[in-house]
Amino acid sequence: MEIFHISAECYPMAKVGGLADVVGALPKYQTNAGHNTRVVVPCYDTKFKNENIFECVHWGTVKLGNFNFPFNVLKESTNKLGYELYLIEINELFNRPNIYGYEDDIERFVAFQIAVLDWIIARNKVPDVINCHDHHTGLIPFLLQFAYKYENLKDVKTVITIHNGLYQGWFGFDKLYYLPEFDLKHVGFLEWNNCINSLAVGIKCADAVTTVSPSYLNEINYAANGLEGLFNSVRNKSKGILNGIDFEVWNPLKDSMIAENYSINDFEAGKQKNKEKLCEQFELDPSKPLFSFIGRLFDEKGGDLLPQATALALSENFENLNILILGSGKPEIESQLIQLRTDYKGNYNVFIGYNEDLAHLIYAGSDYILMPSRVEPCGLNQMYAMRYGTIPVVRRTGGLRDTVIDFGDDGNGICHDQASVGDICYSINRGLKLFADKINFNKVVQRGMTADHSWERVCQEYIEIYNLIIEKNEI
Ligand code: ADP
Repeated sequence: MEIFHISAECYPMAKVGGLADVVGALPKYQTNAGHNTRVVVPCYDTKFKNENIFECVHWGTVKLGNFNFPFNVLKESTNKLGYELYLIEINELFNRPNIYGYEDDIERFVAFQIAVLDWIIARNKVPDVINCHDHHTGLIPFLLQFAYKYENLKDVKTVITIHNGLYQGWFGFDKLYYLPEFDLKHVGFLEWNNCINSLAVGIKCADAVTTVSPSYLNEINYAANGLEGLFNSVRNKSKGILNGIDFEVWNPLKDSMIAENYSINDFEAGKQKNKEKLCEQFELDPSKPLFSFIGRLFDEKGGDLLPQATALALSENFENLNILILGSGKPEIESQLIQLRTDYKGNYNVFIGYNEDLAHLIYAGSDYILMPSRVEPCGLNQMYAMRYGTIPVVRRTGGLRDTVIDFGDDGNGICHDQASVGDICYSINRGLKLFADKINFNKVVQRGMTADHSWERVCQEYIEIYNLIIEKNEI
């Protein structure tokens, strides 16, 4: 079947978080399974764009209300990613270094969605399924059904995959005129709480809704930033599918971004070498247990709890503990974390920013990964960490609940229930005790390293949903 994935992110072209990893991996496994899989993302000014060769396969003008933007569709020439990657080039809107965070984000992503559909309809070949990802592509299921100019694509089946339901792409009805003409009697599909809510539009209009873990699907029925009722009402067309991880990118035996490669057979020595390199870089002591955090420094990730939890854990256990943080986000969290450097030099360090290579080294060289998330639709860090023999320390929520079992129940990690400084420190203390008991520590590590989070299995679950909506119109 022919499948289009439409997304704002796709690794390695453009990554902010897990969305990119999923959209960069799932299509590869769908292609391997015999499907024609294409990924379409905006053409940002990124390293990948500048270092690779693209050919122009289509051009046109996208109309956004009274504005007209010329656009090109660029195809990555070599197909080296394992699927066809297409970039929508609208220079005025996307030729910028960052993916999000601009005042005209609504204009950017509405124009992107219109350009994608203008191109798909111009191909004169109707795809079987369009899989939209998050709110940046939520208008597509609506436009396909109701915009006059996409009449010929009316029967294309659509899935919206929710990677993060907190962000919804709201905008006022004063911008309704951006959309291509449609039958106004359907305007209600656009509305949620007096706004146009892109994510809600996608949820209402898509043939199927998927979330990136089963537990997250349950949780958004009572906590979804205002969309709880909507999620309840579409339960019969929704499914939670736990993300996989790309073993070709995340493999400690082959990873070129780490200091020493290793497998489950020699992980102790291999990890120690990576830890030494990491500790040298950050002036830490490699003989002490190392707890790390990688991620966006926002409240949803428990980022606001990190400075206090770090200070408390270090002041209680100064002699036998290291903490390292990699991330960026809220300025006040960043500055508190930087401040801690002076107080706990030698036991603590922080790197503010985004650094893919460093993230890989941290997964390889740490003993524990901290994930005190308030909300975690799936979470990939815990799966990467386990693959690299690093024990996840998590708050039970969303995908963390589905993937991490406490070592007290013969599991692969350390779990707590509250998003609180006390719970984080309690878990760190349990981690310190476990670290001192090498035999049991290694057992927990090995259970994590052997967990099956492969995309092969997960990819089939997506295909089953596509088949159901194509054959029966329901899931
Ligand atoms: P989310 O998408 O909510 O941010 P996920 O756990 O799904 O969280 O995915 C996070 C991804 O982003 C992982 O690949 C993680 O390694 C990566 N990541 C997050 N922050 C950074 C950072 N500062 N530097 C490098 N990689 C990062």
